[in-house]
Amino acid sequence: MTTQFSDLSLRPDIMQALEKLKYTEPTPIQAQMIPIMMTGVDVIGQAQTGTGKTAAFSLPILHNLISGQRKPQALILSPTRELAMQVAKAMEGYGAYTGVRVLSIYGGSSYGRQISALKRGVDVVVGTPGRLLDLLNKKSLDLSQVRTLVLDEADEMLSMGFIDDIETLLDATATKRQVALFSATMPVRIRQLAKKYLHEPQSVAIKKKQLTLAAVEQRYYVVNQRDKLAALTRLFETEDISRALIFVRTRAGTGELANELASRGFSAEMLNGDLSQDARERVMSRFRNDHIKVLVATDVAARGLDIDDISHVFNYDLPDDPEVFVHRIGRTGRAGKEGIAITLMTPKETRMLNRIEGYTRQKMTKAELPSKADIMNARKKQIVERMEVWLRRGRFKNELELVNQLVEAGHDPLEIAAASMRIVRESENQRPVETIGEVREWNSRRDPRGSRNSRFSGGPRDKGRGSSKRTRSSFSSRKSHEQGMARMVLDKGRSDGVSPSDVVGTIAYHANIPGKSLGAIHIQDQQTFVDVPEQFVDQVLAKNGNYRLRKNKEIMTVEKA
Ligand code: AMP
Repeated sequence: MTTQFSDLSLRPDIMQALEKLKYTEPTPIQAQMIPIMMTGVDVIGQAQTGTGKTAAFSLPILHNLISGQRKPQALILSPTRELAMQVAKAMEGYGAYTGVRVLSIYGGSSYGRQISALKRGVDVVVGTPGRLLDLLNKKSLDLSQVRTLVLDEADEMLSMGFIDDIETLLDATATKRQVALFSATMPVRIRQLAKKYLHEPQSVAIKKKQLTLAAVEQRYYVVNQRDKLAALTRLFETEDISRALIFVRTRAGTGELANELASRGFSAEMLNGDLSQDARERVMSRFRNDHIKVLVATDVAARGLDIDDISHVFNYDLPDDPEVFVHRIGRTGRAGKEGIAITLMTPKETRMLNRIEGYTRQKMTKAELPSKADIMNARKKQIVERMEVWLRRGRFKNELELVNQLVEAGHDPLEIAAASMRIVRESENQRPVETIGEVREWNSRRDPRGSRNSRFSGGPRDKGRGSSKRTRSSFSSRKSHEQGMARMVLDKGRSDGVSPSDVVGTIAYHANIPGKSLGAIHIQDQQTFVDVPEQFVDQVLAKNGNYRLRKNKEIMTVEKA
């Protein structure tokens, strides 16, 4: 039988707020966590954002609150300012009828307001470790009366370098306080922290199966790295997107992709760690208020993004960790809505696909990209829909006058309408559907470094579209013609911007061999042949993973031809 909120014996003033929020029944983490936390013991909760973990710790804190005290009774540590604000807001909502005083404390805002609020008296403090520590050192924050301390997204705080601050804050609280540690993952350092500060903690883990929300439709498309943008553009033309979040691997990638999309007519902006706090908030508010439809973000930057109505999550680059994948797609399909998660995958990343599927215990559906004909149909449909909107609105007095003039001049009304459509559709010519190259299956045995290098654009077997017959026949021999030389092949070529100095520079430098010892270099469209003295072959192979293109920093892989 499923637990109901009424089974949890929460205070009536909390129940009243839950009714107002229309929470009908507790989520799994709430059903398990709330009774444990209400008893005051320490607890570890392994749960992601989107599982309802905020209420899981907020409700017991509110339940155990003693009114009329001046000093904080509960402290919640958050990795980011956004999360702190979000948790404080949620806590105020849950405690709307309890009279709770919640204060959020984070860097980048004035000390004055925070200090005077502390002086007036607060019950719950939610904040980021750095600023909390500042206030503790200034003696403005007194943690001696804290009875419950929550570490929210502990793994994130760890990766942001807050671990020492957290320990100092923990040390500033009474030893008998309750600690609730929440973390999506349990790296060693977090386990050590738990061991040191938590007393016989109980554990609550939300089973992996529940991690991926059932309301998310998961699809993937296999494309060559170089065709990802074209593939994304096609999907943007055919999907019914209300709000999309696109994940890319690097900060630089966010800007590049956002610009590319914007130049294709899709209102997109980037969200990355380089943005100032103000700029970040402005971008998020434009997204929230529907001024932009698309955010291109890194994983770290997307943390704390509290927007429920995301129709699509795109994995433009795959993450290295299946857990991160789950985090990403958990951002859609929330608040009872259906969501779509779309992953663009290069042929050699299928190994990662298996790992993700194993982790989530859910299969992703392999899908075919929309064809040119699909795009044309989608465009036609869109025009008809836009026309219908205007026909319903009926506000085209000036245009009607123009049509009347044409009718009076003897033109057929149907033909006038068709000619108008024609004019409307002229802009389509400026948006040609980009060609997408054929995908060749990747043979993993040929990749000495496994599937880690996901930016790899097709394998050496991928002769590519552009490589001419002439160059292939003159240099396709996999053996060097020079004695004592071995022919090797790099998986990048002219279309990636490879120059001879790239080849000599990076190989000679990283493999620590004389540049002039390298023999013939032949750059083809998708790959490059280079002759290497036989005695250096192993040395060159050993440094795979280090060879990079100067221009775009992409990694090149070299192997025997
Ligand atoms: P969280 O994981 O705490 O970020 O919560 C994810 C979302 O679920 C938030 O929008 C909450 O308002 C919502 N939520 C949390 N608990 C419940 C519940 N028991 N019933 C319905 N919605 C909930």
